[in-house]
Amino acid sequence: MAEARLLWEESYWDDRTPAFPCPRCDRGNLSPNSPLVTEYSTAAANYLQSGDADPLDITYRFTQMLKCGVHDCGEIVATIGDAELFDRDNIGPDEDRYHYKLSPRGMHPAPPLATIPLGTPEIVANELKLAFHFVLGGFGILREPAADKCRENSRPLRNSYGRHPV
Ligand SMILES: [Zn+2]
Repeated sequence: MAEARLLWEESYWDDRTPAFPCPRCDRGNLSPNSPLVTEYSTAAANYLQSGDADPLDITYRFTQMLKCGVHDCGEIVATIGDAELFDRDNIGPDEDRYHYKLSPRGMHPAPPLATIPLGTPEIVANELKLAFHFVLGGFGILREPAADKCRENSRPLRNSYGRHPV
């Protein structure tokens, strides 16, 4: 299976959303379709008011909708996770120099982690899609070990359907 390693980055900048593949069609990629919403806890607010911290020191939560760019698909994927604010560009007083680094903890429906080859038995394809959900939707782990675990868990299933051992 072709692997979509781009998906396994743990985090990305708010203005550089990866081109996650659409979980509904095999043609499109996802891009932001709603403003990024970030919030922080009361405890973080109190921490900020204490004067011991600034907005760059706290962890935020974010939500954002992504949409498939294929006109007759338009799948919507809800994304949630953690965000940290960085003075990324450090180029003067312009507010635009501040950017959130987003660490998704869940995506629904989950984008595919790998291409499912044509002709894959439906039961295998469904199990793989479920594995994608557990990696990106259930546990929201966009890290290599989770992808390895996904491959490892699906190996016996794929092998039992006559595919070459992987
Ligand atoms: Zn699509």
